[in-house]
Amino acid sequence: MRWKHAVSAALGGLALALSLSAQSDQWVVIRAGRLFDSQQGAFVAHAVVVVHGERITAAGTADRVKIPAGAQVIDLGNATLLPGLIDTHTHLFLTGESEDRYDEQLLKESWQYRTIEAVVNARKDLEAGFTSLRDLETEGAMYSDADVRNAINRGLIPGPRLQVATRALSTTGGYPLESYSPEVNVPSGVQKVDSPWAARQAVREQISNGADVIKIYSTHHHHFTADGKLVSIPTFTLEEIQAIVDEAHREGVKVACHAYGGVGLHNCLDAGVDSIEHGLDLDEASIQKLTQKHIYYVPTLYVYEFDPSDDLKATGGKTSRARIHEVSFRRAVTAGVTIAFGTDVGPFPHGTQAKEFAYMVRFGMKPVEAMRAATSMAAELLGWQDRVGSVEPGKFADLIAVAGDPASDITELERVKFVMKGGQVVRNDWK
Ligand SMILES: [Zn+2]
Repeated sequence: MRWKHAVSAALGGLALALSLSAQSDQWVVIRAGRLFDSQQGAFVAHAVVVVHGERITAAGTADRVKIPAGAQVIDLGNATLLPGLIDTHTHLFLTGESEDRYDEQLLKESWQYRTIEAVVNARKDLEAGFTSLRDLETEGAMYSDADVRNAINRGLIPGPRLQVATRALSTTGGYPLESYSPEVNVPSGVQKVDSPWAARQAVREQISNGADVIKIYSTHHHHFTADGKLVSIPTFTLEEIQAIVDEAHREGVKVACHAYGGVGLHNCLDAGVDSIEHGLDLDEASIQKLTQKHIYYVPTLYVYEFDPSDDLKATGGKTSRARIHEVSFRRAVTAGVTIAFGTDVGPFPHGTQAKEFAYMVRFGMKPVEAMRAATSMAAELLGWQDRVGSVEPGKFADLIAVAGDPASDITELERVKFVMKGGQVVRNDWK
């Protein structure tokens, strides 16, 4: 599958490649007060990064980096330079909606209209400093995410580098739209499959239609007990998830598992998925499995923080998913679980997902570790550690800059002022 996209992208990109050929030879030098080394979790002072075409050729302290003659110099003064941020859990096809708007989007908006929204959202995320995204399903817009990815790769539209999940998978009764009369055929936010063999076929279909990653929903409905515990109802059986993971891995594709807690969470961990999404309700056994099996934890804290009113109503003000999540996140940090930055942006507005960082730090993560989660660790989860996630020779020149010091004030990352993707300046507020 990968080769097919590569070939078509190469052909489609021919015109663009020609128009950019003058630029692709160009040397650009970026100077900044300091540079974040995402491998070491440290800063390099008086930083210089040399870019040739779309790649980095050198990076380090000014006195150690040779400046090519005739290079264009972008001087960012005292700014802090970082690798482009990576959000490993996004929804480009959702646009800041409540539950009602979700139904309306699926019932009243065409896939074409929703794709236009996704194009706008992709640009917002890029301009906010997110140069790579793992977009975890289109919520009913079928395979349109593969088109957005291809259009970005061919230079037709601005946007982050994308890995896409296409339709995602759940079971009958395991995803909206719900609560309509059985007489009415309504669209579904996911592809529903029942049985291991149906699941295998769906994985094959999604990969053949452009999925870079398989997304599954292993828990769906939830409620709170009288004493404020969260109960998450599983969707798939263990056997079904094993079939999905086996089929995806057989084709070299990773599996992202949406799970809150309980049996659904453990089924995913036991089946050997590659990441747990949300993981609101981690028990000791699940933290051990995450650590021992080196499964990534993508917490998505902010999406549960921005409006907990339904949960507070349901529990009489006793608790919320956000408060249960905080406990799980703190435990995971203490236990040394590998955490990749992900936000679930879509239910809240695109371009604002850097608000996640403040919650990660408030709930016990060191600022430099939160920054690594959104750069080097996220790149590893995507399997893209050879191309993004750090500022090193050979990698794509995906860079961002902020005015202050994000290690002492993590909210600096909410105010990104410079963005470069693949050697091209997307944004420079200092110009
Ligand atoms: Zn999500």
